[in-house]
Amino acid sequence: MVGHAKNSNKPDKSRIDAAIKLATEAHEGQFRKSGDPYITHPLAVMEIVKSWGMDEDTIIAAVLHDVVEDTSVTLKDIKEQFGEQVAFLVNGVTKLGNARSGMRDLDTYLPSTKDNLLRLLVATGSDIRVLIIKLADRLHNLRTLSALPPDKQKKIAKESLEIFAPLADRLNMGRLRVEMADIAFSYVDPKRYKELADLIEQYNKSAEKTMQKIQKEVSSALGREKIKFSINGRVKSVYSLHKKLAKHNGNMGEIHDLTALRIIVNDITDCYLVLGIIHSLYTPMTGRIKDYIAMPKQNGYQSLHTTVITKDKRIVEFQIRTHKMHDFAEHGLAASFYYNEQKLTENYKTGKIEHLPTNLLWITELQETAAKLRSGKKVDLKKLRLNLFADKIFVYTPKGDIIDLPTGSLPLDFAYRLHSEIGEHVIGVKINGKMRSLNTHLRHGDVVEILTSKNATPKAGWFDKIITPHARHKLRAQLAAIANHNNNLQK
Ligand code: MN
Repeated sequence: MVGHAKNSNKPDKSRIDAAIKLATEAHEGQFRKSGDPYITHPLAVMEIVKSWGMDEDTIIAAVLHDVVEDTSVTLKDIKEQFGEQVAFLVNGVTKLGNARSGMRDLDTYLPSTKDNLLRLLVATGSDIRVLIIKLADRLHNLRTLSALPPDKQKKIAKESLEIFAPLADRLNMGRLRVEMADIAFSYVDPKRYKELADLIEQYNKSAEKTMQKIQKEVSSALGREKIKFSINGRVKSVYSLHKKLAKHNGNMGEIHDLTALRIIVNDITDCYLVLGIIHSLYTPMTGRIKDYIAMPKQNGYQSLHTTVITKDKRIVEFQIRTHKMHDFAEHGLAASFYYNEQKLTENYKTGKIEHLPTNLLWITELQETAAKLRSGKKVDLKKLRLNLFADKIFVYTPKGDIIDLPTGSLPLDFAYRLHSEIGEHVIGVKINGKMRSLNTHLRHGDVVEILTSKNATPKAGWFDKIITPHARHKLRAQLAAIANHNNNLQK
């Protein structure tokens, strides 16, 4: 787990103690709405970033994050006592405190991006640690939200759902995202929250026996193969159920991952082995196998997912991953501090992090972009969005080959990508086993089967059903060839 004690760069306790002393004295006589001494808040924020495995400067900045805003301690004091790095971080968090006006200023830099992470990075000096402290700050404020008056509760909860939980998701901090979103949602829509929480509880109760049985079956099968593993249930969060239901018009029949089992193993080979064993025990659902190991999600998330139907007709999702992937799924960017420690922090000031795992390299790009923008350099945001947010989807052929396409692609884009001759003879498409129209937008993880007929010919109307330049180009050439051929026949 991230944040356990065996850290080779053990934080310097005397520096942290000095920060605690300074903050305690500075906040002396201040109280929170709950009646607790104010210092309880920065200390709690410190514990949170510590538990995420963050570096020493971040821990110290967490302790001091409110002193410049709320007490007579100045940035200069902090710089003198704790160094430039800590001062820089505290300054960033303070600026973020004034996020509203800050965000408005950003419109001059960033007229065309709605990306909150980039905006925040530009606002705070392009150091992602500032955002990590801010996330910890927000988490503690949410945990203690009950002390505030209702109108403030709603405002903070709403903002958390709109900005901070998605931010945690962008940084692949899964555990944080879930906790923030669920607390916030319980204030934004308490009735719905209760409904769904009850529903999840009921469902889990009803599924308990089956799940135990499945867990046993899987465990003994894995044991026979001598695989070292741990297995446990993961409960779906209320907010993610709410969002998923909204996507499926409230249809519970579409929700297949209310109960999921998570299997954690030592290495990637074992992940695929386990997947195979599960598929030999139960029937996998078509189109529901997702290989986020070969193709991590944009936020760096890695895991194998599969949804199966058991002998007694229950639908169960399995998530299979290594210990390291699990740490990253729970703690995301923060986990990289644990794995890379010093190397990371040294490079932070310049915005260059060279030791991030490849699946998080987009953060480096983003920080560099933010730094450029701040120093007044021109950046082509359109190009950036294309690269960074890699507006891509990955879909499968029926044989399981992976094809990547731009978001918004349609079946003909897929067909022409496979082969121009396949494109030429399309008569229809099956997506996840069902006939669909050629206007259907493909989605990440779809299994796409193109139906062809030798006698079918391309149509000019297809230009409306294509978004990729490649397909457009091929179609144009084919239509020209046909026209040419017809001309020759008439001559
Ligand atoms: Mn605070």
